[in-house]
Amino acid sequence: MTDTITAPGAQADSLGTGLQITGLNKVFSAGRKSVVALQDADLHTEQGTFLALLGPSGCGKSTILRILAGLEEPTSGTTRVDGKTPKELRRGNELGIAFQDSALMPWRSVTSNIQLPFEVAGKPVDKAYVAEMIALVGLTGFEKAKPAQLSGGMRQRVSIARSLIMKPSVLLFDEPFGALDDMTRQRLNLELLRIWTEKPATTLLVTHGISEAIFLSDQVAVMSPRPGRITEVMTIDLPRPRTPEMMRTPEFHAYVDHASELLFGAGGAATDDH
Ligand code: ADP
Ligand code: MG
Repeated sequence: MTDTITAPGAQADSLGTGLQITGLNKVFSAGRKSVVALQDADLHTEQGTFLALLGPSGCGKSTILRILAGLEEPTSGTTRVDGKTPKELRRGNELGIAFQDSALMPWRSVTSNIQLPFEVAGKPVDKAYVAEMIALVGLTGFEKAKPAQLSGGMRQRVSIARSLIMKPSVLLFDEPFGALDDMTRQRLNLELLRIWTEKPATTLLVTHGISEAIFLSDQVAVMSPRPGRITEVMTIDLPRPRTPEMMRTPEFHAYVDHASELLFGAGGAATDDH
């Protein structure tokens, strides 16, 4: 499968219409120390495609997402998603975000948290769709519960439902399934895929699940740490719709092997300095 893998530079002349990350640098200064969180990150995808970001802890994955979402300013470089600046994205109600920390409103119920984006957008609440999303993430019966009454995994599922409720055209997910058990994780992956297929959003998913990344994505970007760089962008040339059976094919295993090699293999991605 190595013939389907392209280096990031190979895409430089077609700048893409989806994720457009160009020459992104981020330096954090803490007192006299500074941390280069991102160095010359470049990433370009087409609108409505699904990209997963893999990489060891601390390589700058969350920083990329936070910059795209306008929650962090880059030191230099630019980002656009579907042609929009972070500010424009946030204004347009077209952005669905689910981060590690579920960031729910503690005084609001499950239902009320999930329907919040309708209120923010000044749109009538689609009650039937809210109920459907609650069922989808397996929280039927917990509609009236407050976040404090839920487990971490349940809160995370509320946050995923909330991120999808407006059927956004851009999805930024930062390890949203990290705290979930394998079964729930697998089920939500399939549901996410179903929802995404219905309305393909330009998606960036940070995950530490290699199989999950390959199963869901059109492209998988692999990062190396200190300084955070994108080392390779793999194109996942598996047909859609994806089915769980595909995870047992030799093609699938070849992708998993290649990604594992980049992350952990001979010397590991951590010492890769190109
Ligand atoms: P990842 O999500 O891949 O684990 P992060 O993007 O969270 O990595 O962090 C990348 C690097 O930047 C890490 O070394 C981290 O310690 C540092 N970093 C992230 N946020 C801050 C911050 N607000 N202040 C100082 N350093 C930070
Ligand atoms: Mg992170």
